[in-house]
Amino acid sequence: MYSDSEKKQIEALFDKLLMYCNSCKDSEKDLIKKAYKFAYEAHKKDRRRTGEPFIIHPIHVAIIVADNIGLDAKSIASAILHDIVEDTEYTLETLENMFGSKIAVIVDGLTKLKRAFDEQPSQEQSDSDLICYSKESEKQHSLQAENFRKLLLTLSDDVRVILIKLADRLHNMRTLDAMPPNKKVKICSETLFIYAPLAHRLGLYSIKTELEDLSFKFRQLEAYNTLQEKIKFDDEKNYHLINRFAIKMSNKLTRQNIKFDIDGRPKSVYSTWKKMKSKNVTFEEVYDFLAVRIIFDPLEGIPESTQCWNIYALIAELYNPKPNRIRDWVSKPKANGYEALHGTFMGNDGRWIEVQIRSRRMHEVAEKGYAAHWKYKEHESKENELDKWLGKVRDILDNHKANALEFLDDFKLSLFSDEILVFTPKGKIITLPKGASVLDFAFEIHTELAYSCIGAKINHQMMPRSHILNSGDQVEILSSKKQQPEPEWLNFVITAKAQTGLKNAFKTQRKKTIKKGKKILEDILEKMDLSLNSNIFKKIFREEKVSNKDDLYYKVGAKIIDEERLTKILKKRSPNKFVRYWQPRIKITETEIQGNGSDSENNIDNIFDPGKPLILDDGNFRPEIFEIASCCNPIPGDEVIGYKSPGDKIIIHKISCENAIMLSANYGDLVVKVEWIRNKLKSFLARIKLKGMDKMGIVNNITNVISKELNVNMRSIFFEGHDDIFNGEIDLYVHDTQDLQILINNLMRIEGVKSVRRIETKE
Ligand code: MN
Repeated sequence: MYSDSEKKQIEALFDKLLMYCNSCKDSEKDLIKKAYKFAYEAHKKDRRRTGEPFIIHPIHVAIIVADNIGLDAKSIASAILHDIVEDTEYTLETLENMFGSKIAVIVDGLTKLKRAFDEQPSQEQSDSDLICYSKESEKQHSLQAENFRKLLLTLSDDVRVILIKLADRLHNMRTLDAMPPNKKVKICSETLFIYAPLAHRLGLYSIKTELEDLSFKFRQLEAYNTLQEKIKFDDEKNYHLINRFAIKMSNKLTRQNIKFDIDGRPKSVYSTWKKMKSKNVTFEEVYDFLAVRIIFDPLEGIPESTQCWNIYALIAELYNPKPNRIRDWVSKPKANGYEALHGTFMGNDGRWIEVQIRSRRMHEVAEKGYAAHWKYKEHESKENELDKWLGKVRDILDNHKANALEFLDDFKLSLFSDEILVFTPKGKIITLPKGASVLDFAFEIHTELAYSCIGAKINHQMMPRSHILNSGDQVEILSSKKQQPEPEWLNFVITAKAQTGLKNAFKTQRKKTIKKGKKILEDILEKMDLSLNSNIFKKIFREEKVSNKDDLYYKVGAKIIDEERLTKILKKRSPNKFVRYWQPRIKITETEIQGNGSDSENNIDNIFDPGKPLILDDGNFRPEIFEIASCCNPIPGDEVIGYKSPGDKIIIHKISCENAIMLSANYGDLVVKVEWIRNKLKSFLARIKLKGMDKMGIVNNITNVISKELNVNMRSIFFEGHDDIFNGEIDLYVHDTQDLQILINNLMRIEGVKSVRRIETKE
């Protein structure tokens, strides 16, 4: 039972929720209150891991649903009820009777998602049979992918299920501290891997940012804190610059009777970090430009886009605009619904300042996504952008019923890629991911057209199928009835639709060939007066090194095995019984030898325990068990995780590595936090990048410092110079991050060297 102070806390929180429901009708408020009363009673005995009364959680989720996403009363009620069926004795029928079928359907969707995601049985590990084990892990991976698919499948039922799920995840992330460490890593990775991109794709900018920042904070606390400090410092430093710029602008707009707010541009910690990492640049380089936001209340009777341009023109009277820097998302919104007009102007202090111009509605859409559209009914035409996107997701889902893993890759692809807009000959706009080819375009138009595609006319010029399209291209597909899809076409398509289309075509082609092959084989057998039996198959399989009937038929059908050869094989006598007896015997002996070879200390399962962090030091660093991931090349001193691979090794990744995020999200139970102890016995590969003035002898000085003074081994060295500037990359072996830092400091002291930093992969 709850204490009096807890009861007060709950009541206050619910009152806060009601505040966000101000625009609701009285009957809708009653529904929300009814849901609250019911949930309060139902969860009465439950507490969260944090020790708080359980009901606190659903109310918080409902607040996010009402405030951050801006959903309707039924969604808010569903959010309050979302854990009832899974966590209390009440059934879905009770909810349906009390709250109607719509809410029951939404809660049902959320319950199913929760069962699929959060309550996964931990994987059982078989300790002796390696083959069996790797199959297990494959199953595990596809199970997780299948869950992602289920999650996205709900998009096609009722989009509110996924929106409430995102709110649920956000509140769970806010209270993640109560979770055990290993679960934290898994949950954060999942969040980065699927929930944040999904929120982004749905245009839920504020939720996406918070999800990312929280995941980043829990995964890499130190890096998060350092960067947050820097951002704060940077903001203070630039405050006056922005202010001076804004005052003049503000006066001018006020004189024109425009009502508006001016905002600084918030900087997300995670996106800053990601930019620094992916482009390999410093913090200062990411924020080399300043930005402000103008959010205006539109005048009636004038299109909002016109008013954006008007404001742009007013600012351009004050400050010089930068040529070619206008970003126009008011004439044609981004696919995720974003609308705004961006321009860059030269401030009085000689700094470029970006100005983002948005109406109040555009701003709300930018922060809250599609849900905000529903509040502005008069802009109905914009709404079908969401429908279009949902349609695309549904397409992908329908095409991948059989293979969830493949689906996940495709979906990730469509989540992250930027888009280009191209035109059909009649001027219809087609949206494609950046990097799409003529063939991708053809599949977007019609599958049959794509199958017979021989090229295209792009802006009236002939181009091959593989040509990469640019935004604004007008594309006319050229086709021929004689053309058929060829395997190498897979190399130049990137959309899920094209990839699936081609794979389907090859499957059909293969099926036809198999059928043909079967017929050929049967005819031959008939001629020789033989019937198809397992002995005949065994005989051919052995001779032709195929392992199943379909492969054999295919080879026959494709004339890789011709009739003459088949006849010859069939006429051959079987090997005698003596040989057949010995062949399996030999195999058994081999397995026995292998089995005896592994002693218990080498057994990976004794080292790997998903429940607790793994201690790694140079003493137990055995190359037959541990492997350093070549994607991120961690060294002792780095924050790392270990992934138990199907090859039965523990692969060490930096916690910041893209692959580590992907692995933790997909194989949560195969990933452990690793504490890598520094005892300077072994050396590990690290890569550094140098920049500086191209002076005579500088390379010599650098290599001297590395090899003579510090006694570090170099594996490879690469230098290039032009216009008095040089760039260098050196691979070397160091004990740990401390050694590397000393080395970097010493290199920085060499005259002419301007910057030295560690990098993960070759640039
Ligand atoms: Mn929940």
